[in-house]
Amino acid sequence: MRRWNGWGDETVTYPLPDGAKEFLEGKVGKAKRPRDASFDDVVRKVPKSNLTGHMMISCDAAERVRHARGQSLPDWLAMRTGTVDSFPDGVAHPSDDGEVQTLLAHAQQVGARVIPYGGGTSVVGHINPKTDGQPILTMHLDRMNALRDFDERSHLATFGAGVMGPDLEDALRSRGYTLGHYPQSFEYATLGGWVATRSSGQESAKYGRIEQLFAGGKVWTPRGMLELPPFPASAAGPDLREMVLGSEGRMGVITEATVRVQPRPEREWFRAVFFPEWSDAFAAAREIAQERLGYAMMRVSTPIETETMLALAGHKRLANALAWVLSLRGATDKKCMMLLGFVGDHATVSLARRGALAIARAHDGIHVGRLVGEQWIKSRFRAPYLRNTLWDAGFAIDTLETATTWDRVPNMVEGIENALRHGLDDDNQKVHVFTHLSHVYASGSSVYTTYVFRLADDPEVTLARWRKLKDAASKAIVEQRGTISHQHGVGTDHIPYLSAEKGELGMGALEAVMKYWDPSGMMNPGKLF
Ligand SMILES: Cc1cc2nc3c(=O)[nH]c(=O)nc-3n(C[C@H](O)[C@H](O)[C@H](O)COP(=O)(O)OP(=O)(O)OC[C@H]3O[C@@H](n4cnc5c(N)ncnc54)[C@H](O)[C@@H]3O)c2cc1C
Repeated sequence: MRRWNGWGDETVTYPLPDGAKEFLEGKVGKAKRPRDASFDDVVRKVPKSNLTGHMMISCDAAERVRHARGQSLPDWLAMRTGTVDSFPDGVAHPSDDGEVQTLLAHAQQVGARVIPYGGGTSVVGHINPKTDGQPILTMHLDRMNALRDFDERSHLATFGAGVMGPDLEDALRSRGYTLGHYPQSFEYATLGGWVATRSSGQESAKYGRIEQLFAGGKVWTPRGMLELPPFPASAAGPDLREMVLGSEGRMGVITEATVRVQPRPEREWFRAVFFPEWSDAFAAAREIAQERLGYAMMRVSTPIETETMLALAGHKRLANALAWVLSLRGATDKKCMMLLGFVGDHATVSLARRGALAIARAHDGIHVGRLVGEQWIKSRFRAPYLRNTLWDAGFAIDTLETATTWDRVPNMVEGIENALRHGLDDDNQKVHVFTHLSHVYASGSSVYTTYVFRLADDPEVTLARWRKLKDAASKAIVEQRGTISHQHGVGTDHIPYLSAEKGELGMGALEAVMKYWDPSGMMNPGKLF
């Protein structure tokens, strides 16, 4: 069973490795777990529904709690402490396009707002009901999850948009294919959610972001159904898929998506390379990206992130042995880890990895063999479970991300980290901050920062701390002219910073386009703009 107030399956845990709690307490101070509300406590808070009387809509209080929040830090805080203050009035699980159409017509008739719901893994407030007095219907697409068509000749697969990552890959694997889209939330996020939020998978350098993978599909809007044929390319005016990508539920319900798939790779090669200093790692990353060596993944951690990852990963004896070997080669307390992944046929992978390692060596990179890289790929979807354990130990952990051009990346890292590190100085609270370059391009990079601070006994105090940090870091992003999101989307949390990159005209155009599809504003109001 999926956790209702945390990440993932209830039976999966990620115990804190020896010394990890002490490591974090050394950074932010002693922490204490606040009191958790029980599921029953929260169910008792659910108000009477304003959406009764339709056989496809459940108004069950437990169901409404399970669809009330996503995975952002404020969402966790609301659910864990029982301070959640808005719920959908009803939840529907349509099983085909006809039922989606029926539900949209019903919502229109009774003046309800509709929130399309994929896997509920949003980290920016996308699926949270916003109360404006009208009833709220959450439409969960989980029953629309089948492979509808597989066109091997064209390398295209069409799925119901509610399919989750593992089911989608299973269906393709049995045919020898893959989509290769692996966001860290892969286990629960859905194809429709990926399209609606413009998501990016860990191997996007090989397979492409969802924008490149999404070939076409169907969207049911309040005005009717928009069908997007999967042309390989087209010069017939602006591409209508671009309106759907990143539409965040405001345009309509994506019921079907056709994606570009590839034969499964013969080989996957993931390795770690350590550098004595950040400047070496940074220069190597840029050079590897600009040589266009065909890597699937490259992520480069700052010294603080490298130290933190090694402390939280466990395997203390292995980490000590690694530190000793690296110190002999001159990589000590400022060392930085680069993770490199190559996938494809044997010959291409061999050639590309040799090229990348040669560049890394020229920047004093030390290739440490297979263990670290293989361990990372094996446990890449387990890492989010650590968030449950850290919360139980009294620590709040959150991430934020942006992307910018190479000339701005160093200032961006420094600006975000400083904003966060000193964001709670006035409250006498320390913040542990660390960063990696997570998706590296020829023209620049995404910057992904994680921050840890202490939970307070009072949820309002924790929320106020988070607001201060989020605002300070988002302003730093805007100041350095980065995008407010490289992959998580806008939701509610990024709205105040969006106009800085879109401009007044851009915001006006965006709102006008969404209004065209949804004249009465019934689709997921309060998100995106
Ligand atoms: C631990 C963790 C790790 C993450 N890692 C990544 C990562 O590596 N890369 C990344 O890009 N993101 C990541 N995310 C963010 C999140 O997983 C993505 O935004 C994901 O694309 C959301 O998909 P979902 O199906 O859960 O959508 P939901 O959270 O259910 O919905 C998100 C938005 O999409 C809309 N939507 C969903 N389905 C449909 C549909 N069928 N039709 C119309 N609108 C729809 C919703 O209305 C909402 O506005 C992570 C989140 C977590 C919690």
